[in-house]
Amino acid sequence: MVEATAVALVVMHVLRTDSWSTGLSGFIALCLIGVAHTEIAVGVERMRRRVTEAPHVDLSSVWTFAGAVLLPPVYAVLTALVVHSHLWWRAWRPRVPVYRQLFSTATVVLACIAASAVMHSVGPGGPAGVVRGGAAELAALGLALLVYTTVNSGLIAGAIAVSTSRPTAAQVLGHWDENMLEIATLCLGALTAVALAINPWLVVLVLPPLLVLHRAVLVRQLEEAASTDSKTGLLNAATWHTQAEREIRRAARQGSSAAVLILDLDHFKAVNDRHGHLAGDRVLSAVAEALRTEVRDNDLVGRFGGEEFVVLLPGLDGGATGRDELHVVAERIRHRVARLTVNIPTPDGPLTVTGLSVSVGGARFPGDGADLTGVMAVADTALYEAKRAGRNLVRMGLHMPPAEPLRRTGTEPPAPSS
Ligand code: GH3
Ligand code: MG
Ligand code: MG
Repeated sequence: MVEATAVALVVMHVLRTDSWSTGLSGFIALCLIGVAHTEIAVGVERMRRRVTEAPHVDLSSVWTFAGAVLLPPVYAVLTALVVHSHLWWRAWRPRVPVYRQLFSTATVVLACIAASAVMHSVGPGGPAGVVRGGAAELAALGLALLVYTTVNSGLIAGAIAVSTSRPTAAQVLGHWDENMLEIATLCLGALTAVALAINPWLVVLVLPPLLVLHRAVLVRQLEEAASTDSKTGLLNAATWHTQAEREIRRAARQGSSAAVLILDLDHFKAVNDRHGHLAGDRVLSAVAEALRTEVRDNDLVGRFGGEEFVVLLPGLDGGATGRDELHVVAERIRHRVARLTVNIPTPDGPLTVTGLSVSVGGARFPGDGADLTGVMAVADTALYEAKRAGRNLVRMGLHMPPAEPLRRTGTEPPAPSS
């Protein structure tokens, strides 16, 4: 529907256009600068691809939005088609499939047509009116910006909502900083349109800040890649440790409390032995997802290594209530893992892994230790206790140190069912 509407509107505007010379030079200028921008940004893109899987950040709306407010609608959509197709050809192919590219181009075309309609509703003045200090044109420019981002993001959000099973708000609406980046890009687009109305050569001045913006986004993506565990999306061990230390220090300063859970999947080696490491990896990420959903947003969930996870829960009550609460959380996670059904597509057909279990050790700050290391040591001892007592158990707080050296494996594992 989106694509058909976009095609119909483009055809309608082409048929309605009687003077092709109006806006031709602006169209050519925007296409040239848009293509040059993509060519320069491809270098940043290559660097990004070496270190992170995060999607390419597309700042091309600077040119498409400038076209929408400056040019007649037909040239605005042609600018969008040229800039987007070139971007796909140079930066997105082959990871972005054609059908998705067509859809996203259609959303941009519709956004351009909507923004252009807003801009032209106050007369033919456009950005030139803004240069002259026209208040109506200025208000129209702001409104066009809102309309452009609403149409574009709204259609994309709709597509994500209908094509994802049980989508989260963050998946549908995107992250706050992604949306801010889009708004910043559109603001730059508005300035570009005004600059073009004064003197087309001014548009060259937009390129350097745009490239700096690309690099700033790259730095953010690198930070994210350096702090997360790529297999599960949880915090990696180093980042978890740094952030957990900070939370414990804060708790010490404020006289509040915190708690740590260490979790180790039971007989995980058997999952690997039975289904292979790739299936094992899928199980790890399913467990990570389960863990994340069972704790609060501000709890720190990390992958410690192998099949071991850690959670820091700040602000749990320091007394008996807190201990009970921690126990409840740990039991909830244990039950959730026990109920987990992991569906894994394989070349031989879908594979379902069930019968998983996890052992959990917990400890509290400041009751069980004076710092993170002390609390972790107690939680680790509790985890060993849980393993020794038969696995699929939760153990808490200070226990007697084990009388004999413990081995985590040793009993014959009951093979996880599939
Ligand atoms: P226990 O109940 O005593 O914890 O038994 P276990 O089999 O879970 O523990 P053990 O320490 O013997 O084995 C851990 C296994 O986890 C061995 C290793 O192959 C597997 N493992 C560690 N990291 C990964 C990973 O990233 N992916 C996969 N698929 N397996 C991993
Ligand atoms: Mg294990
Ligand atoms: Mg282990």
